[in-house]
Amino acid sequence: MNEETGVSHLEMNRTKARPHDGTIARQHERTKARMHELGIYLHIPFCVRKCYYCDFNSGPLSQTARRDYLEALRQEIIHSPWRGFEAKTVFFGGGTPSELSIAELGTLVQDLRQTFRVKEKAEWSIECNPGTATRTFFAALGQMGFNRISLGVQSFHDHHLKALGRVHDSAEAKSAYRWLREAGCDNVNLDLIFGLPRQTLQEWEADVSEALTLSPEHLSLYNLTIEPGTEFGNRHARGELREVDEDLSADMYELAMDRTRAAGYSQYEISNYSRPGRQCAHNLIYWRNEPYLGFGVSAASFIDGLRWTNTGNLREYARTAASGRVSRASEEALEDREALGEEIMLRLRTSEGISLSSLSTHYHFDVASLFSQTLELLSTHDFITQAGDRVQLTRQGRLMADEVCMRFLAG
Ligand code: SF4
Repeated sequence: MNEETGVSHLEMNRTKARPHDGTIARQHERTKARMHELGIYLHIPFCVRKCYYCDFNSGPLSQTARRDYLEALRQEIIHSPWRGFEAKTVFFGGGTPSELSIAELGTLVQDLRQTFRVKEKAEWSIECNPGTATRTFFAALGQMGFNRISLGVQSFHDHHLKALGRVHDSAEAKSAYRWLREAGCDNVNLDLIFGLPRQTLQEWEADVSEALTLSPEHLSLYNLTIEPGTEFGNRHARGELREVDEDLSADMYELAMDRTRAAGYSQYEISNYSRPGRQCAHNLIYWRNEPYLGFGVSAASFIDGLRWTNTGNLREYARTAASGRVSRASEEALEDREALGEEIMLRLRTSEGISLSSLSTHYHFDVASLFSQTLELLSTHDFITQAGDRVQLTRQGRLMADEVCMRFLAG
């Protein structure tokens, strides 16, 4: 999982998949001449155990399943039809990539470097969970080329970590952070979640303060969502777990926005805050609707309007990757109007917002006219602000971001 994006790398499909009658190979030919820089995502689905809130394709795996998976992942990379393409970012997400051994990680890094032209100054990110990575592991990351580490802290309160089913405690999170700094890593993200069951505003404030005291380059601060099919989802369905009050959640979000701004961070996306120049280049690819390739079970790819998702079934993935063509759970080509709505939805999440003229040029629609009623309505309710050509979410709009952004899908 990439907890930073909020939207999973694995399920970037936001509209119902429908069959596409072209082939990916044909699309590849059409794209090849136009595309220059990709984002590459690798999914590592192993975790020590399943967290109670997690709906990502991840969990504990046997040694055999794990070995088969890594071999399949290697095959998928090596046989990629996009071999030779330039990559500007590489992101190892999960799951728990820090569950990999240094040797396993090194092999995958080498495969990627031999298959793609990874830019010299590419951003190499990896998600690590406290309690799974050692000081030696962190020291090895830099040598392999990783220059951005994302640490899944989630909370600095042990009772909340326990209630979430996390394997680490607060002391381990702080040790992991210290080891990263000692290893020379100068670009660290911390993931934290608010809106936890029975979490108070004071506890959340203490979490944010603790994070700011550590002074990472980047913070991802998320509101917990209770997803069906998870342990929390099941408890919720049985009436044993209540969602946090909406007003309290909003207060927590506002506190996060205010405290990070006061500490010199810029909120460059709804849930993401960075020091100047330290935005996550990989996640910006998703929000700017730029091309990316995902490798691994359930991984999503998007190139030139064509989007597909690898099978979510581990055995099927391993079997089909070994034969050089991974089976896909979905594949779709978006019509221009649909693609436009999605791009607006994604870009509006960022502080850059959208440029009406750029989108009009790209999609050959008069975007201002097409969405005139939506823009007017959202502006009247103070959810967006429009300065000339540029439309951005207001603070109020950020609080209602999902609802606001969805308006553009519907037209
Ligand atoms: S560490 Fe927990 S939240 Fe993260 S992918 Fe694994 S099970 Fe999910």
